[in-house]
Amino acid sequence: MLTLRTLISSLAVTLAVAACSPAEDPAATTEPATAPAEDSTASEPAPAANLLLAEWTGPYGGVPAFDQMNLAELEPAMDTAMANSLAALDVIAKQSEAATFANTIVAMEGASEDFNRVQAYYGIWTSNLSTPEFREVQQKLAPRIANYYSTVRQNSELFARIRAVYEGEEFKALQPDQQRLTWLVYDTFASNGATLEGAEKERYAAINQQLAELQTLFANNMLADEEGYVTWLTEEQLSGLPDSVISAAVQAATDLGQPEKWAIKNTRSSMDPFLTYSTHRDLRENVWRNYYSRGNNADEKDNNALIAQILALRDERAKLLGYNNFAEWQVQNRMAKTPEAAMNLMLAVWPAAIARVDEEVADMQAVADAEGAAITIAPWDYRYYSEKVRKAKFDLDSDEVKQYLQLDKLRDAMFFVAGEIFNFNFTPVAEGAVPVFHPDVKVWEVTNRDSGELVGLWYLDPFARAGKRSGAWATAYRPHETHNGKRTVLSSNNSNFSKGAPGEPVLISWDDARTYFHEFGHALHALSSNVAYPTLNIGVRDYTELQSQLLERWITTDKVIDQYLVHYQTGEPIPAELVAKIQAAANFNEGFDTTEYLASALMDMKYHTTDPAGLDAQVFERDTLTALNMPEELMMRHRSTHFSHIFSGESYAAGYYGYLWADVLAADASEAFEEAAGGFYDKEVADKLVNYLFAVRNAMDPAEAYRLFRGRDATIDALLRDRGFVPAKE
Ligand SMILES: [Zn+2]
Repeated sequence: MLTLRTLISSLAVTLAVAACSPAEDPAATTEPATAPAEDSTASEPAPAANLLLAEWTGPYGGVPAFDQMNLAELEPAMDTAMANSLAALDVIAKQSEAATFANTIVAMEGASEDFNRVQAYYGIWTSNLSTPEFREVQQKLAPRIANYYSTVRQNSELFARIRAVYEGEEFKALQPDQQRLTWLVYDTFASNGATLEGAEKERYAAINQQLAELQTLFANNMLADEEGYVTWLTEEQLSGLPDSVISAAVQAATDLGQPEKWAIKNTRSSMDPFLTYSTHRDLRENVWRNYYSRGNNADEKDNNALIAQILALRDERAKLLGYNNFAEWQVQNRMAKTPEAAMNLMLAVWPAAIARVDEEVADMQAVADAEGAAITIAPWDYRYYSEKVRKAKFDLDSDEVKQYLQLDKLRDAMFFVAGEIFNFNFTPVAEGAVPVFHPDVKVWEVTNRDSGELVGLWYLDPFARAGKRSGAWATAYRPHETHNGKRTVLSSNNSNFSKGAPGEPVLISWDDARTYFHEFGHALHALSSNVAYPTLNIGVRDYTELQSQLLERWITTDKVIDQYLVHYQTGEPIPAELVAKIQAAANFNEGFDTTEYLASALMDMKYHTTDPAGLDAQVFERDTLTALNMPEELMMRHRSTHFSHIFSGESYAAGYYGYLWADVLAADASEAFEEAAGGFYDKEVADKLVNYLFAVRNAMDPAEAYRLFRGRDATIDALLRDRGFVPAKE
């Protein structure tokens, strides 16, 4: 059913997003592909020899046999599944009848059912149940899966039929969602070289091959510089560091074979807290310089030349396909549509961000002066002095906040919001009725609150354990579709909370509570889908965080606070003053955060819209930052030589702006509720939200869908208010 969906999600868009922050490792955002189940009207299948290939049986139109996963079956299952979908696509390609929407586009939707089922299990092993044994299998399968996708894209007979439908007479008579499906399928092939022939086609393939090698080299060089530079500390040099940082430094030193010392590794998670707390300015500078020099040490691991080569190849390939530059090619099927639109948005926010940096630096300089430090704030001082300002202005006792954030109550709060806004009812599924891959995983049945009609299942895997990847993410094992009979959505949320003592409530931090809501927003996006064709569930990269970021807003609504954010012992709701303090603290240091992010996002777009001939990355970076008037007290979040989001792979290249794009939409959409008579529970706005921003998924152009929700395009005003760059509305 969804070769195209998985194919497309591997390229430019994702169904649900895993890593949701611009800081996280881009590799971690690759979604486990979602998988469909068998048609619920089909008769009971005979047991397959390989369980991972077998059709899903049991209640709810069939569910994955997560309790019977056998790693020994994975490799043969994946190979068979890929062979089956290639064969099915070939049958579609070689039909004698003229191409039609039904016999080509719709037929393709059903060509990869086996592959999608195996992918669901593969995703569980990748993210929830990884082992050294699995990673060995994964190493073997990864190139075969990559080869599978390129084989699909190179099927020229298949593409000829797709093109015939897209350019034919029948197209004009199709429904809008059918037209969009056809365009999405066509575009996936066309923007990946399917329109090329002869020498151009060969050159295209050669460029891809070279890019894959250079991008891998870029990533390896960066990793080598993360491992190759360590700052060793003596006991006296630990001053200022909190216990958690010291024990991480002990662990790092032990891992490096020198358990009697303390080590600060050259990674963000080590650098950031060290710069925040260390009282040794010279060491802070040393750690800062190591970190921001990754890939730029004029040795065999230097990435500067690779950047020029990668950009030149991307530019050449974009021109082969008829685009002026790589960014045009990359952005054309995203909500922004053009590099200029993305650039204009970033430049509109930029002046407010750097103006806020000036204020933050002034505050920090005052603290340094009062201490008699006799320094001028430098980049290695920013985190250190901003922490002092934070403590003076917004000191929040995170333990006090936690006492109002009980994991179970927060889940109840999410169900409450889903009921009020989406009209969903969540009921626990009896233990054992639906197979799970770990005893911690619980399942809920989701129904329509009025009609009782089944919507889907929601799997929750809340706790950390060995073999589970870090962070929080959402995925769907089976997306919605109706064109071939309605299928029950199987959605999931996954996080890494620490288990509490038996009988004790699990208390979590404010950030974790927001993330919990955020990921639930992705799950609701999957559950509320009303699209007919599975491919129409795919997300658009600069749009797919809107729904999840928006859902975070309900956590501070009065109804949630009064009923669910209650003290774990007294049952009293969290005090309004504490909530106000949390919200004020949330915008602290926003100048730094927005500026360091935007500097990287702007650099990304500049790189991919500039003629790369003769480009010198160091000169380009310096000139671009100078032209932007970049404050000298901080550095861009990812400097060019270690900007792995854009140079270790392609999906974020000319796409790093997407985080801001989604933030603008979320802030603007949130004000639609603030302006409504019923606030965040206003029925009319909620209906529009569900219909136009959630249920429609990718069946409609996101810009058009947003206009239907808001009555206009989003503007940046709400974001500027949201980040505290301009005063809030009265
Ligand atoms: Zn997200």
